Amino acid sequence: MYDPKAARNTETKLKEDGTKMCMRCRHVFDASNFYKNKSKVDGLDGYCKSCRKKAKYLKFKE
Ligand SMILES: [Zn+2]
Repeated sequence: MYDPKAARNTETKLKEDGTKMCMRCRHVFDASNFYKNKSKVDGLDGYCKSCRKKAKYLKFKE
């Protein structure tokens, strides 16, 4: 089943409790497990640090 609403919502946001879901592994981590990324709405990268290390096609300054 195709859900356009869910498909559009691939960008995960930081929650009020300070946790965020990784776009890649779909696990929820503390905000400290995400690199900072100014281009994102919440200022945090969409991938957790562990996934970001695996996805080396993008470089980020810390
Ligand atoms: Zn991840």
